This record gives sequence, structure tokens and C-alpha cells, in this order.
Amino acid sequence: MKEQLNVLAAMQKLDDKIGQYRVLQEVLPKQLNEINERVEQATIDLLAGETEKAEINKQQRAQEGEIKTHQEQIQKYGNQLSAIKTNKEYKALNSEIAYLKDKISEIESQLLVLMDAETEVKARIVGYKNALAEAEANKKAKEGDLKAQIETLEEKVESTRAERNKLAVTLPVALIKRYGNMIKNKGNQALAYTHDGSCGGCGFVIRQQMRIELQLREKVVYCENCGRILLNPFEEDSPEAK
Ligand SMILES: [Zn+2]
Repeated sequence: MKEQLNVLAAMQKLDDKIGQYRVLQEVLPKQLNEINERVEQATIDLLAGETEKAEINKQQRAQEGEIKTHQEQIQKYGNQLSAIKTNKEYKALNSEIAYLKDKISEIESQLLVLMDAETEVKARIVGYKNALAEAEANKKAKEGDLKAQIETLEEKVESTRAERNKLAVTLPVALIKRYGNMIKNKGNQALAYTHDGSCGGCGFVIRQQMRIELQLREKVVYCENCGRILLNPFEEDSPEAK
């Protein structure tokens, strides 16, 4: 019987291992996604920043062109001034020139605002480039290892399960079935160790009679509350019990 209990303990150890692999099967693909998403996000941010900068530069060019047009017009009006005969015409032309000069200084102050915006977006682009380089370096460093781990996990689960099943065939069929059902329905835990006189699976306090049975290790003891197979931790065994 002690042999059977040892087998059960060994099986639970293997099922614990399978449980850990299952957790990794959930966690590692998420980590892989996060790594790729960081690169994608950094790429999008950089593209958005560069688009923003291009838009600002386009506006700058348009406004510089406008200034040039106005200046040429002023030049033309200036040339016409000498040929003018009447005071009225002279005044009209001069006010036209003044108007264009106002226009130019208005555009120049808009250009200053654009220059500030350009400086700001340039700084952001530097940040985006750094973030992208960092995300790509992170991907390069971790992706291969993660993928390799993910690929081997199912294999590890299979081989661990095979190892467990090899142990299981030495046990009575009814016991294997009960064990298997609990692995399925009790959070991957069919076997619980006692802890301070309680079931380590559910915390239920173990009766005195059962505590004695647990010490003797002569039969399979089940928790009266959760149904899990109970075992005293092996290090608690007295030398006689072994
Ligand atoms: Zn229990």
C-alpha cells in the first residue's frame, strides 16, 4: 500500500509539472504577442510623427511661397509708383503695399508657430525612433527563445503525461479513475498533503481517527470534504513508519 501511495505522490508531482506547462502555454504566447505589439505600436507612432512633420513642412512651404508672391507684388507696385501721375492713385498703391506688408508679417508669425510645432514633433520623432529601436532589440532578444519554448511545450506535456500513465498502470483501475477525475475537476490536484492537521487542498480539519490512518499509510485516505487523496508530507514520517 505504501508503494501505491508513493506512486500517487509521484503522479501528482508529474501532474503539477503538466499544470505548470499549461500555464506557460497560456502565458508565453501572450508575451510573444506583447513583444510584437510593442514593435507595431512603435512603428505606428513613428509613422504618425513623420506624417505630422511632413504636414507641417508642407504648410511652411505654402506660407513661404505666399510671402514670396506678396514680396514680388510689392516689388511690382514699387516700380509702378514712379510712373504714377495722381495723388489718389499713389495713395491707393501705397495702401495696397501696406496691406501686403501686413499680410507678410501675419504669415511670418504663423511661420513661427509652425517652427515651434516642427521642433516639438522632431523631438517626439526622436523618442519614437528610440522606442522602436528598443522594441526591435527586445524582440530580437526574446522572440526566438519564446517561440522555441512554446513549440516544445506540447511535447513536454505529452512526455510528462506518458510518464504519469506509466506509473498509473501499476494502480487499481478504480483508483486511477478517481485520481483522473479529480485532476480534471479539482484544479489539477487529486492529491493533497496534510497541513497542521487540515487538508492542504481545501483546509478541512481532519478527524483524529483519520490522522492515525494517515500516519500508518496502510490505506488510501480521502478528505471528507473535497474528496482528494490525503497524504502526510513524507518528511513527517517517523523512521518506524518507513
Ligand atoms: Zn480536502
